[in-house]
Amino acid sequence: MAQVHLSGVVKRYGSLEVVHAIDLDIEEGEFVVLVGPSGCGKSTTLRMIAGLEDISGGDIRIGDRVVNDLPPRERNISMVFQNYALYPHMTVRENLGFSLKIAKRPQAEIDRAVDEAAAILSLVPLMDRKPGALSGGQRQRVAMGRAIVRHPDVFLFDEPLSNLDAKLRTQMRVEIKKLHQKVRSTIVYVTHDQVEAMTLADRIVIMRDGHIEQIGAPLDVFENPVNTFVATFIGSPPMNLLDGTAQGGDAVLRDGTRVPVPPGYRAAYGQAVQLGIRADNIMPVGHSLPPTAHMAQIDMDVTLTEPLGTETLLFAELAGTEVQAKMLNPRPVRAGERMTFQIMLDKCHLFDAGSGMALRG
Ligand code: ADP
Ligand code: MG
Repeated sequence: MAQVHLSGVVKRYGSLEVVHAIDLDIEEGEFVVLVGPSGCGKSTTLRMIAGLEDISGGDIRIGDRVVNDLPPRERNISMVFQNYALYPHMTVRENLGFSLKIAKRPQAEIDRAVDEAAAILSLVPLMDRKPGALSGGQRQRVAMGRAIVRHPDVFLFDEPLSNLDAKLRTQMRVEIKKLHQKVRSTIVYVTHDQVEAMTLADRIVIMRDGHIEQIGAPLDVFENPVNTFVATFIGSPPMNLLDGTAQGGDAVLRDGTRVPVPPGYRAAYGQAVQLGIRADNIMPVGHSLPPTAHMAQIDMDVTLTEPLGTETLLFAELAGTEVQAKMLNPRPVRAGERMTFQIMLDKCHLFDAGSGMALRG
């Protein structure tokens, strides 16, 4: 186990800078997830930590060592990729032990490490099979086992579940979390999937265009997004954003609807703002959570419904913007029905329309 520190780390390809002086401090034993849209620099950052890419500026430290110029094999890291190429002609046992074998470790040590990894990952009954006789999830477990046997200071994962179907992905997510609870290693994990990030991470690092937008615990970034990018990237469905103008204590929407500014936020008179409301915080009266201290009511016409069983997602229009709302204890709703909704203002957000930054007062 080790800490990982990135300080002013830059990556350039020729004249094109794709990672812009990022700082990141990862604690020993912490599970950190880098998340962001495709092309934002997640893999590049991970590969720089691994030593598979040179850094163009700044410093990377693993434990007490600056590793900027160390080759990957001297960094004591293990990496698990999306394409977990196992050796097809070797058994699971041989695949697991291969890296230790080529490192010329004594056979007794190899056996011990392989048995330990097999136990952690429930591979014991599969040890004599070849990869061709394994399911996708089992193969991915072997790939993780290969990483574990080396007892690395840091595990690096790059979208390890992307090739699996949705059901298996959910199962493997739980397995990876259990794995971390057992081995307590430092993990840096890359994904574009915000649900994966939320469910796995001790802390999430949200990236966009080679910058870090926000770092925080999953619930912290969910509840306190610093800007509209994070607000709409984290959480499903994406947070509703309504254009308006601040006037006194209200945000006045395009059609004149007045909604009180959420507690804890402040805007200048006349400032162009965006009011942020998650679907969980706008619900039809009679089908909502218990009232909170600060509530507002508005009427909206429902345009579309998505019954999900325990709740129904309602699409409606407000001030020219499509809004998604949640209905608890659902009853059938027809398109075109006008309903009264209550907004839980305590959970809402206010952003500057120009910069997108949260207007915390
Ligand atoms: P992510 O993993 O977040 O999808 P990457 O880290 O793979 O993103 O890529 C970040 C940016 O760097 C992208 O714009 C990508 O096109 C660019 N990039 C990655 N590798 C190279 C390369 N070898 N040469 C030039 N540009 C690259
Ligand atoms: Mg990538």
